[in-house]
Amino acid sequence: MALIIQKYGGSSVADAERIKNVARRIAAARARGDQVVVVVSAMGDTTDDLIKMAYQVTQQPGERELDVLLSTGELVSSTLLAMALKNMGYGAISLSGAQAGIRTDASHSRARILNLNPKRVVEELEKGNIVIVAGFQGITDEMDITTLGRGGSDTTAVALAASLGAEVCQIYTDVEGVSTADPRLVPEAQKLDEIGYEEMLELATYGAKVVHPRAVELGELFNIPILVASSFTDSPGTLIHGGVSMEVRNKVRSIAHDLDMAKITLVGVPDRPGIAASIFEPLAKANISVDTIVQNASIENITDLTFTVAKSQLDRAMDVVKPIAESIGARECVSDSRLGKVSIIGTGMQNTPGYAARMFGVLSERGINIQLITTSEIRITCIIDEARVKDAVQALHRAFELEIEG
Ligand code: ASP
Ligand code: MG
Repeated sequence: MALIIQKYGGSSVADAERIKNVARRIAAARARGDQVVVVVSAMGDTTDDLIKMAYQVTQQPGERELDVLLSTGELVSSTLLAMALKNMGYGAISLSGAQAGIRTDASHSRARILNLNPKRVVEELEKGNIVIVAGFQGITDEMDITTLGRGGSDTTAVALAASLGAEVCQIYTDVEGVSTADPRLVPEAQKLDEIGYEEMLELATYGAKVVHPRAVELGELFNIPILVASSFTDSPGTLIHGGVSMEVRNKVRSIAHDLDMAKITLVGVPDRPGIAASIFEPLAKANISVDTIVQNASIENITDLTFTVAKSQLDRAMDVVKPIAESIGARECVSDSRLGKVSIIGTGMQNTPGYAARMFGVLSERGINIQLITTSEIRITCIIDEARVKDAVQALHRAFELEIEG
């Protein structure tokens, strides 16, 4: 008898019918003789709706109260799912994150798991119950409810898999798995049967929405295979694991894109020690994550500094940066939110020249202007006009022949 973790995303539990469908899928896994621990997200757009509601009441909901409010979304779906399973004659119990033993630090809205003691989960499994855990939440030592950041249920699932020594963590969503590009942009995109952790981490970080990067990171750390598959079909999905063969790795595997980005440029910044720190330390304190940073070579000790943030954080970032720009004597502080990024990703690029040149060539043939470039060993990212992202993804998918095999 194996222990498996199944996680169902918001769209998979969006209404009563879908919850019953998920219950049937869990029952089928149980019938195969496995012990099952299930993690659920909130139903449909519940989390967004709860946030909206909070801001209708006040412009400053306060992060402690907001976390308690948001945690209720997952409580609703987990209890309903337990009820549906019981109605089918199965022993099932729902547990909040706190009851499941998920202890976190006190950074509300982005808490990190400090430790996970799944005593109650194990007890319930031993009683023969299917355990349904509310995702995305934990509790501090002071008994305050926390949430793990948007999309955090994936992290809950992989963390539980690690602490319970589960064979696999299955993440069920509304797409068939991980593809060579977003199928909504590229109809010929192929689903991948398997992908390594490091490639998946880059993909998830650079725009693929199928699984949260933190969950991939945890999976790699504890060597938990993660299966991403659809909760609406029986197709086999994509297995994220550490044993992908060289053969499969030896090329560009996927094109990621992300439209949620904006850039801020400080024009005419004096080039002297401490300037970067004076800008990025306050941004970090304000909990704004900065992605790409580019500083131009300076001319007569004056330089330009550009960095990117998520669109949703642009206004706050500008509020932080503008006064600093003034105090350090920058000429101007400007922003642009009509940007997107496209990335080619694959371990095959490691130590192999030519990929960057090819990518830039493809974009130039389409007349797409590259504004910024960033790379890792297995990724090349170009930041371009948001309106050209679709065209870029399609052209790159063709140029790297990703429609041929998945
Ligand atoms: N319900 C939360 C969100 O929408 C967590 C999750 O779905 O994983 O971000
Ligand atoms: Mg969600």
